[in-house]
Amino acid sequence: MRGLMQDVPLTIDTIFRHAEQHHGDVPIVTNGPGGKTRSTYAEWADRTRRLGGVLDTLGISADGRVGTFGWNSQRHLELYFAAPCTGRVLHTLNVRLFPEQLTYIANHAEDEVVFVDRTVLPLLWPLIDTMKTVQQVVVMDDGGDAEVPDDPRVLDYETLLAGAQPVDFAVRDENAAASMCYTSGTTGNPKGVVYSHRSTVLHTMAVISPNGFGIGVDDVAMPVVPMFHANAWGIAQASPAAGAAMVFPGAMMQPQALADLIVDEEVTFTAGVPTIWQGVLPHLAGREHRLRKIGCGGSAVPPALSRAYQQQVGLPIYQAWGMTETHPVASGSTLARRYADADEETKTAQRARQGIPLFGLEARIVEAGTIDERPWDDVATGELQVRGPWCAKDYYNPDAGVELSTPDGWMRTGDVAALDAFGSIRIADRTKDLIKSGGEWISSVDLENAIMSHPAVAEAAVIAVPHPKWAERPLACVVLKSGETATEQEILDHIAPQVAKWWLPDAVEFIDEVPKTSVGKFSKKDLRTRFAEYPAKD
Ligand code: AMP
Repeated sequence: MRGLMQDVPLTIDTIFRHAEQHHGDVPIVTNGPGGKTRSTYAEWADRTRRLGGVLDTLGISADGRVGTFGWNSQRHLELYFAAPCTGRVLHTLNVRLFPEQLTYIANHAEDEVVFVDRTVLPLLWPLIDTMKTVQQVVVMDDGGDAEVPDDPRVLDYETLLAGAQPVDFAVRDENAAASMCYTSGTTGNPKGVVYSHRSTVLHTMAVISPNGFGIGVDDVAMPVVPMFHANAWGIAQASPAAGAAMVFPGAMMQPQALADLIVDEEVTFTAGVPTIWQGVLPHLAGREHRLRKIGCGGSAVPPALSRAYQQQVGLPIYQAWGMTETHPVASGSTLARRYADADEETKTAQRARQGIPLFGLEARIVEAGTIDERPWDDVATGELQVRGPWCAKDYYNPDAGVELSTPDGWMRTGDVAALDAFGSIRIADRTKDLIKSGGEWISSVDLENAIMSHPAVAEAAVIAVPHPKWAERPLACVVLKSGETATEQEILDHIAPQVAKWWLPDAVEFIDEVPKTSVGKFSKKDLRTRFAEYPAKD
C-alpha cells in the first residue's frame, strides 16, 4: 500500500514564496561603510524576482553557475534565491582565499558571471582574465570607494535591476543543484560540494528547529558567519522561512561594529566562529542586549569562552558541529533534559561537546580505515561518520582518489570523535591535527582548551613537532591577552592537573597571533611550517 499524500518537491522557491506572502513587512537591515540600509522582505522579494530577470538578460545558461564575491548583505540574500529559484546554481566564492585558489575554484565550477561587492572588487578584478568562463562582473555598490574599471564586462547591479522584469519561480526537480561551496581544502585542491534544493529545504527545517538554532518569527537574526562560508550555516534560508528579521554586517566585520549592531538592532540570534566571539566579547560585556542564542562552530568552542559569555554577556554559547559537506549544520549542544538540574560545571562540560545529531542525521565512529563501529563509551575514539539527506555523497568532479563515502554509504568526516552513551559527539581532533607520541594519540583540542582556560591566555594552538624518540611531541603556541604576562612554567602548571602527564607540551612558544585560514580557523599548517625544525627535548 502506498501513502496517499501529495508529492510536492522540496524546492527553495517554496521558502521564497513563504517569506514573500506571509512576512512582507519584516525588516532587513544591512550595515556598510556608508551607514545602514533598511528594507523589508516585500522589497527583497520584488528585487529578487527582478534579479531573476537580470540573470535571463545576461544570458546565464539554464543551470549556469552564478558566482558571488561579497559580504553578508541583502543583495547577497537576493542572489541566494534568484539563482536557484531560476534553476541556476549559486556559487559563493570566499573573499579571503588566495588568488590561485580563487582562479582554480571559479574555473573548476565554470562560473559564468560573478557578482562582487565594490569593497572587495580590487581582490577579484586582477584575476578576471584567469577566470576562463566568466563573461560578466556585476558590481554591487556597498559603499566602498574602490575604483570601478571601465570595461565592457563590468556592469552595475542597481542599474541592471532597475531595468529588469520580475520573473516567476517554479523549480520542479527537488534533486537539482541549487548552490555550491568549496571546502577550504586541508589537503590537495579545494573540493566542490553541491547542495540540492531538497537538501537545502531539509537543512533549513533542521536549522529552524528548537534543537538547532531555533529561529522563529520573534527573532532578529544576524549571520556573522560569512555567506561565502558553508552556506552561512543555513541562516540565510532559515530566517526567511521562519519570518525572522535579518541584520547583515556587510563589510563592517570589526568586533566593535558587530557588538554595536547586536545592541542597536536588538539582535536575538547570531552565529559565527569562536575567534569572532573572542573578539566581540570585550565590546559586548556588560551592555544591554536582547540576544537569546549565540551559535558557534567551525572549530571547537573553548569552554573558557562559553563561560566568559555566560558571566559577562549573560548567556552561554550554543555549539554546533558541521562541515561544508553537511550543509553545514549536523549536530548541536542543546542540553538534554537529564542535565536540567546539573551544576554549572557539568553544564559547561556538556556545552563543550559538539552534541547530538540534529534529527534527520545519524552519526557513528569507526576504526580508522574500516567500517567497524567503536563503542559509545566516551572513551573509545574513531573517525566520525555521518549519514542523512543533507550530507554530501560525492564531491563535484573530484581529483582521482578522493572518496567521500564509505562502501556502506556513510560520509567520512576526517574528524576523530568519541560518543557518549547517548551518542553525544565529542570531537577529539581532526585526523591530521592529532599528535602521535610514542604510538599513542594526544588531542590538540583538549590541550588547547586547557591552555585557554588560563586567565592570561587569549588563544592557543597546539601542534605536533617531530621528535627522534617519540615521533611527535606537542608544542603549544600561545597568544597572551594584551597587557597580560605568563611564563612557560605557569602555563604548564595550569594545565598539569587537567591532562595526562605525558600529554604536557614539550614547550610553550609565545607568538603574536595564531595564523588563521580564510574562514577564521587556526591555520596549523602555517604553524607546523614555522616550527618544523623545532629542537627536540630529551
Ligand atoms: P568547514 O567545512 O570549513 O566548515 O570545516 C569543517 C571542519 O571544521 C570539521 O570537519 C571540523 O574539523 C571542524 N569543526 C566544525 N565545527 C566544529 C566544532 N563545533 N568543534 C570542533 N571542530 C569543528
